[in-house]
Amino acid sequence: MRGIEGLVNSRGFVLTDAFQRNPAFPNIFAIGVCIAIAPPAPTPVPTGVPKTGFMIESMVTATARNLPRVIAGQAPVEEPTWNALCLADFGDRGAAFLAMPQLPPRNVGWSSKGRWVHYAKLAFEWYFLRKVRTGISEPFYEKFVMKTLKITKIKA
Ligand SMILES: Cc1cc2nc3c(=O)[nH]c(=O)nc-3n(C[C@H](O)[C@H](O)[C@H](O)COP(=O)(O)OP(=O)(O)OC[C@H]3O[C@@H](n4cnc5c(N)ncnc54)[C@H](O)[C@@H]3O)c2cc1C
Repeated sequence: MRGIEGLVNSRGFVLTDAFQRNPAFPNIFAIGVCIAIAPPAPTPVPTGVPKTGFMIESMVTATARNLPRVIAGQAPVEEPTWNALCLADFGDRGAAFLAMPQLPPRNVGWSSKGRWVHYAKLAFEWYFLRKVRTGISEPFYEKFVMKTLKITKIKA
């Protein structure tokens, strides 16, 4: 895909609009680490904007909801939040953060570290793999907890 004018930037990352859709090729949507996200500010050395799991789940959710509309000849309406919720395991401890949205200016920016993150990550791994095994990506209790905490995937 690298070098296709309008589809990717000079580094080969796919260009997308607010709905995860490529502006030049509207039948192409892109999600995940392959998309182009401009850094919010210049940096002394080249850096990329971090793309984390929950943020990518929000891109996937918006795309999955927009595709049937596009197939039916309607315009996409769902926009991902790009909220970031991360448990980074360092072995016997770790760091956690919540950034809503991921890029500044933020409404919420929270972080914590300690041994609890390591155990939380182990628990999350078990929970995540169980979801993969059962094929239910978002059980009702997860939806309830996330909604209560106002950590959403789709912009209101
Ligand atoms: C070391 C590390 C730690 C991380 N820790 C965290 C964390 O704690 N929390 C968090 O939220 N995020 C974390 N991330 C980020 C998170 O893992 C990524 O943002 C996320 O996995 C990206 O999802 P993706 O689907 O875009 O890409 P990937 O998960 O990379 O999936 C891409 C898939 O495409 C496949 N593929 C590639 N080329 C081809 C091809 N030509 N044909 C077919 N298949 C192909 C690959 O094998 C892969 O399975 C971490 C990332 C790394 C590298």
